[in-house]
Amino acid sequence: MQNPHAHPKPMLIAGPCAAETREQIMFSLEQAKRRNVDFVRISLWKPRTKPGFDGLKEDGISLMAEAADMGLNPGTEILVGEQAQAVMDGVLPHLGEHGQLLLWIGARNQNHYVQRDIARVASQDSRVKLMLKNQPWHSESHWEGIMEHALEGGMLRENLILCHRGFTPDVHHPNPDGLRNVADSEMAMRVREKCKVPMLLDVSHIAGAVDKLEPVAMEMVSHAYDGLVIEVHPNPRFAWTDAKQQITWDQLDELLANVEHARQSVERKAILA
Ligand code: PEP
Ligand code: MN
Repeated sequence: MQNPHAHPKPMLIAGPCAAETREQIMFSLEQAKRRNVDFVRISLWKPRTKPGFDGLKEDGISLMAEAADMGLNPGTEILVGEQAQAVMDGVLPHLGEHGQLLLWIGARNQNHYVQRDIARVASQDSRVKLMLKNQPWHSESHWEGIMEHALEGGMLRENLILCHRGFTPDVHHPNPDGLRNVADSEMAMRVREKCKVPMLLDVSHIAGAVDKLEPVAMEMVSHAYDGLVIEVHPNPRFAWTDAKQQITWDQLDELLANVEHARQSVERKAILA
């Protein structure tokens, strides 16, 4: 299906998997400033499979405030309502009237009391956008349920964003391309239609490796996604989290140019047909 309802300019959320140091974030902000980035990832809480670096946490909120001071829109995952509140208290005074703050509920955070509490906090200021990633396992109704809980928690639909980050492969959903998570874009499009909320494609957490990013990003050409989430790091090989899947800002430019090129050639073919 060609993109009949896609966002006029696809939304772009880019930046490091995790905020690590002030230098890393300052470099990222300068790069983001030169590009058309809607939100910069400055993620402060990192759910980890095994113990290890799990984020700068509250210590990084001042970095998000600095991003807002530069006129950028910062974004982070939050795990509980208290973290959402702390980020809002620290960042909102630095955002102009037209600035936006992105908070998101990650794939592993599947406790509906927590989801509602985060929504209750985030709904207090209309400059806060709440992004909901799908859960790790393959279930359309659970994914819709996350959104229903956020609405029950008080979020307005217009301040919600959905994000497809793929599902953990299992026997019923094989993974011939060796991706980290398997996308089900047909389901994502159904959820988008039912929920009436923009749907982004998290290329990085589906691909899991730099050489698989481009084929995953090409889902943008064949489906009506409203934008992309891509992890970008000043020095990906030395990233403290998700080193295998992060790219540089120059690689991001090339990736986006290739997707746009493919999109235009599909469009030209459709016109000529
Ligand atoms: C993330 O986006 O930082 C992340 C941890 O991804 P997910 O919740 O999709 O695993
Ligand atoms: Mn990551």
